[in-house]
Amino acid sequence: MKFDQFRISPEIKESIQKLGYKKPTDIQYKSIPAILKREDVLAIAQTGTGKTAAFAIPILHLLSTRKSQHKQVRCLVMAPTHELAIQIAGVFKEFGKSLKLRYLSIHGGTDQAPQIEKLQKGVDVLIATPGRMFDLVSQGHLKLDKVEILVLDEADHMLDLGFIKDIKDLMRHVPKRRQTLFFSATINETIKKLAYSLVKNAIRIQISPKDPVSKNIDHSLAFIEMDDKRFFLEDLIRNNADQKMLVFVRTKVRAERVMKALKRVEVDSDTIHSDKNQKERDATMKAFRNGDNKILIATDVSARGIDIPGVEIVINYDIPESPEQYVHRVGRTGRGREKGKAISFCSKEERELLAEIEANFSKPIERIQLSKGDYKNVVDFTDDKPQDWKSLMKEAQEMDQQFKKKKRKK
Ligand code: AMP
Repeated sequence: MKFDQFRISPEIKESIQKLGYKKPTDIQYKSIPAILKREDVLAIAQTGTGKTAAFAIPILHLLSTRKSQHKQVRCLVMAPTHELAIQIAGVFKEFGKSLKLRYLSIHGGTDQAPQIEKLQKGVDVLIATPGRMFDLVSQGHLKLDKVEILVLDEADHMLDLGFIKDIKDLMRHVPKRRQTLFFSATINETIKKLAYSLVKNAIRIQISPKDPVSKNIDHSLAFIEMDDKRFFLEDLIRNNADQKMLVFVRTKVRAERVMKALKRVEVDSDTIHSDKNQKERDATMKAFRNGDNKILIATDVSARGIDIPGVEIVINYDIPESPEQYVHRVGRTGRGREKGKAISFCSKEERELLAEIEANFSKPIERIQLSKGDYKNVVDFTDDKPQDWKSLMKEAQEMDQQFKKKKRKK
């Protein structure tokens, strides 16, 4: 199957060719024809599968072939985070460069005046996070009653962030007669209920149900004690110089600590988490995207859905809290048709979480065999002698408390 076989305009085909996409990915193959037929779509597909292009390509075709008689928004894409909104807008702009359509992404954390000005001039495709969008609707700067196509991207993440009420409120502002495209990386009862309340007779598309993580990713795991993880991270970075790595940790405090530990051994890295303002986050993402910084330490919320080209390795420095989180994290590598590696560091305290994750996949994650000698070598080789034993003790205690709290909640 080639892109040529889709009934889409030559301008869009040309952009696809320029971007170097040779064949549609699974999700594109399945959803493009359905969207072109104006069907509702409910797709369970993780990021990295090419899902943004799967909706952007047919939407651009539909909008460009029917001229608009007004300046109002015709397609609204809702995304959970600023970064994702910007990224989706980038995909629309890239594919729709030569079309006479206008694209805009709006999100909080920036001045709203330029956004209002652009809306007044006319926008065909609006990509928005819920907060800023509702601000503009309530101030009367944005009307959604001419929306023909509504896309909810990363719906599961939006629910995690507490946006369920916003999504329900949104329905009061968009026309009942519309096309709805619902995308989620994972599925559970709440998501199903929400999805069914929004779509009509939807075409259901599911990409690899049992193994929701991309087939292009090699998964492996090493048993490493909490206090030793930083030495193994250092070792991994040194042995994979020049590779782009995304390192996931559980909290912002840990992100900063890991960065400091790497700095002590003269390894440059950066962090992204919710304590950083939008400007800092944009600068961090830019440096990681263009390769000026190759090691990015991230918390889950700040990095979900982000499409950074060429991330070769994802490291679960801390084991994720749920199978869904594992899927989201490792989806940052092996994107589209690239290959990627996901390496997890599992301490004694985290074995229960690991078992929960593995129970959701068809086969266990491959173990990296570390002999006692190998393990000792890595710990001994570092320049970062654990002189700061007080902060190490504090870190271990905090982790321990977190696990106890989680157990009590269960
Ligand atoms: P997404 O799942 O939308 O976040 O896309 C993941 C990555 O796959 C992006 O970097 C895209 O540029 C890339 N991609 C999407 N579709 C294709 C395709 N048909 N061929 C090659 N790469 C693609």
